Amino acid sequence: MPDTTVPPKPRGRLFFANPGPTNIPDSVLRAIDRPSVDFMDEAFIALFENCVTRLKKVLNSSGHVFMYAASGHGAWEASLVNLFSPGDRLLMLESGYFSESWTEMARKFGLVVETVPADWRRGAQADAVKAALAADTGHAIKAVCTVHNETSTGVTLPVKEIRAALDQTRHPALLLSDTISSLASLPYDMDAWGIDLTVGGSQKGLMLPTGMSFTVVSEKAMAAHKVARLPRHYLDWSVMLGRRHKSFVGTVPTQMFNGLSESLRLLEEEGMEAVFARHRRLATAVRAAVRVWSANDGPQLFCTDPSRYSDSVTAILMPEGKDAEAVRRAALGRYNVSLGGGLGKLGGRVFRIGHLGDLNEPMILGTLAAVEMSLRDAGIPHGKGGVAAAMESLAS
Ligand code: PLP
Repeated sequence: MPDTTVPPKPRGRLFFANPGPTNIPDSVLRAIDRPSVDFMDEAFIALFENCVTRLKKVLNSSGHVFMYAASGHGAWEASLVNLFSPGDRLLMLESGYFSESWTEMARKFGLVVETVPADWRRGAQADAVKAALAADTGHAIKAVCTVHNETSTGVTLPVKEIRAALDQTRHPALLLSDTISSLASLPYDMDAWGIDLTVGGSQKGLMLPTGMSFTVVSEKAMAAHKVARLPRHYLDWSVMLGRRHKSFVGTVPTQMFNGLSESLRLLEEEGMEAVFARHRRLATAVRAAVRVWSANDGPQLFCTDPSRYSDSVTAILMPEGKDAEAVRRAALGRYNVSLGGGLGKLGGRVFRIGHLGDLNEPMILGTLAAVEMSLRDAGIPHGKGGVAAAMESLAS
């Protein structure tokens, strides 16, 4: 007898609208479905090197790529232990939950972190960064750290303006940038923007499973690495440089590269400009829907600076006293749509729609329709007609 006390699981495919991990295209799943090979096999090394070259093109970078069998946190940790010594000072640009987590990690390693404080609905301002750098006349700050796209708030920070703040103050600090939720979905020009280290991961714009991350490192950052004294081994770039792949101290996750080669092929086939334009188009439609919902004291866009709206994730702020988790529960339980939740101090106050990776118009419209129904189901006041506004936006 079926258990009638448990509501039946909704039928049909799970609509995955989280800001990472993201949908994995079927051709990438098929590509990963391969037997193991010896990671020292020359044919595999050729595939690996080919992937690294093509990944650098996505980032517009000529830097060294070091890869880890770890999620993004592993690449953050690699950036810290390879570049710094105990007591070194960092300037962290506050953007949200992820800038807080990176700060917490750095402090545990004995680094001294000064923060450029910010309203999470806008993120740190370039003027404040410039003032902090100008005040550091002794050049004690070794690096400026920024999350390019703050996944917890849906705010994109202008990394180019941060570079300008360094240049205008003639400050020699390194510029470190986390592109985890902007990679292969928002424009990113590592060399032209003067970024010394980029942190990236597999499970968002690259449309791969979670579990691989990387850092791309400029010559200036490599020079800093040579004198950095924090202890490290598995994540140590110098150890990696002695390995055949110049990445991975341990076993290389070979199947991930079958997948990466295919996901890069999909990006190359579409063309990066078209990939960015698609993300912008879908994000604009999501924002059009949220603006309609915000009537009648409904939920609203969390980001308050239109020049910083993220085209890969939208965070939606609930009306005072209303629980975002009720909306997420209705969306998943009734409509099989998985939305992102609020992180850290935003828990229960926001829900997030991820619109990055392998996504098209009907997928976005399906998600928005489920959200609009879930708002009604959960008794959240809102303006009606968000989906129609999104359709209008996509059609125009
Ligand atoms: N940085 C950003 C901007 C992220 O969005 C995430 C995860 O979502 C991380 C860092 C941490 O990465 P991971 O969860 O892969 O360890």
